[in-house]
Amino acid sequence: MAIALARRYRPRRFADLLVQDHVAAALRGAIASGRLGHGYLLTGPRGVGKTTAARILAMALNCERRETVTPAGEPCGECDNCLRIWNGSANLDVIEIDAASNRGVDDARELRERAMYAASQEGHHKVYIVDEAHMLTREAWNALLKILEEPPPGVVFVFATTEPAKIFNTAAPVLSRLQRFDFRRIGPAAIRTRLAQVLAAEKLAADDDALTLIARHADGGMRDALSVLDQCLSFGEGAVTAERVREVLGLVGDEQYAEVLRVVTGRDPAGVFPLVARLLDAGADLAEFLNGTGEMLRSLMMLQVGVDPEEITESLRASLEEYRDQLTEGDVLRMLRLLAESETSVRRSGNARLAVETLLLRWTMMDRTVDLASVLSGAPASVPASPRPRRVAAPAASSVPASPPPRREATTGLDLDALIAAWETVVARGREQGSFLGAALAACEPSSIEGAVVRLQLTEENPMYREALDRQSGAVDAIISAVAGTAVRVEVSPAATAARPERLTEEGVRAERLSKVRKKDPALDVAATVLDLEVME
Ligand SMILES: [Zn+2]
Repeated sequence: MAIALARRYRPRRFADLLVQDHVAAALRGAIASGRLGHGYLLTGPRGVGKTTAARILAMALNCERRETVTPAGEPCGECDNCLRIWNGSANLDVIEIDAASNRGVDDARELRERAMYAASQEGHHKVYIVDEAHMLTREAWNALLKILEEPPPGVVFVFATTEPAKIFNTAAPVLSRLQRFDFRRIGPAAIRTRLAQVLAAEKLAADDDALTLIARHADGGMRDALSVLDQCLSFGEGAVTAERVREVLGLVGDEQYAEVLRVVTGRDPAGVFPLVARLLDAGADLAEFLNGTGEMLRSLMMLQVGVDPEEITESLRASLEEYRDQLTEGDVLRMLRLLAESETSVRRSGNARLAVETLLLRWTMMDRTVDLASVLSGAPASVPASPRPRRVAAPAASSVPASPPPRREATTGLDLDALIAAWETVVARGREQGSFLGAALAACEPSSIEGAVVRLQLTEENPMYREALDRQSGAVDAIISAVAGTAVRVEVSPAATAARPERLTEEGVRAERLSKVRKKDPALDVAATVLDLEVME
């Protein structure tokens, strides 16, 4: 590879900037209408196109064909001026400064003196591109402030930074003189698409999983993605495989994550030790392994609540599909909580191996959501689980007036406590038929069983829930019958209005917080339903 891909495929026009349409349109428009500012601040994560956008701006201002390029405001990308700027070769009109190495006041003074000279030719603009601008000293900013207060004609300053807050701390007055553009992180799907285009243009090939891994690792930066692809290409012949990407990046293989799921679902503490030994033999970084495990659990949770985790490899997806029904959402949340608790000890402890083994052992021995079948059959649960209080938010006798002693009912063999214990499953089944039905069921509790009639009580008086449950009463009957293992009919009672005040207050606060979260995003809504169940335990 004579020229690095990241360089060869760097955009030459605003239109080519991935994902940054808002910035491209604004800069193009400013140039086309002749309303260019004197100072711009481009912020955003690394590798998303800030410096490139600054160069395109300089190209557009100095392009030999700028009068005829369409759309107006774009550079042609091909004339001598454009190419010189794009290549970063010596150029009188475009001066690039890396603030990380030029941060002293002397450089700022020199800058100020040089800025006083007009552009090299009539009609040209002088563009200063200051990269890593947050590294400039307060003195340097003070010198720049003087220039920006009385900018020489035809001079434009473009500051690029990953840390705008630092500039705010050292140079707030300068910020008020700059037009700010926030660059977006480039999503993995956009990165993958771009990598595929580059490979096609180069007549090279890569596995889908390989591109997925690179896109994930790049974490929003196109430049990083392309340079990893470069490394993978120089690392061997033929199509780039996921295996090669893992070797280049030092990533843990999907089969190790599958093994984690196997030992946890199989309750196999003895399997923990060889698993960790294999990781260490392969030279894996245990902190990276935990990070990947957290991501894996997040993807599993997404699958469980019906959100597609699009950033995962096909081999990991296959493992998650295999184990998703052997863990409930509650189990996965407990695993994530234990993981969060042990992350610090893995990073700080002198014995990361022991810390990781301990975590995995805790997972294999963790209390699970009680197995429904054993609860319903009255047999002891398969796990020697310490009985955790479950959703016991009071089928209070007073709220179920005129019903016979509601706790047991012989005719169906269905036990109210068992149904309450199995409620997570009911909610999960409801969610499979629509997240709203799931949410409505999550807002209910079985309050009594009389013959084949199961009475549910809304814990939250939301007319939408009521309506959803009425409209889908057939589905609700079917779900609960299936879970209970016997045909039942469901009736829904409104929420009790005369609850104890102190509970009302406590629950009200939480309900309000959750409803805010839910309004933001339907996916979050689903997650909130799951979290809700967890919080109540
Ligand atoms: Zn040009």
